[in-house]
Amino acid sequence: MERSLNNGLCPECDAHWIDGQLYWSNGKEGCPHDLAGLVCNQIFKYNHSGGVKCINPCMGSDSGQTWKHRTDLNNDNN
Ligand SMILES: [Zn+2]
Repeated sequence: MERSLNNGLCPECDAHWIDGQLYWSNGKEGCPHDLAGLVCNQIFKYNHSGGVKCINPCMGSDSGQTWKHRTDLNNDNN
């Protein structure tokens, strides 16, 4: 389920939202689905204690870029 997020800072990945636009920790504009696939889902995967405080509304999504996606691209070079 996606909920709208207008302004906030994710304490896990340092991404922030301003007026609904996601910015990576380095200040570049981004897509929350990419953030989820590349960062938030990894944090969640390795932290099973339930202490993940990620605020990305798209956490758990794999419709953006993921590490698997990148690995598949690399494998195409064979
Ligand atoms: Zn996050």
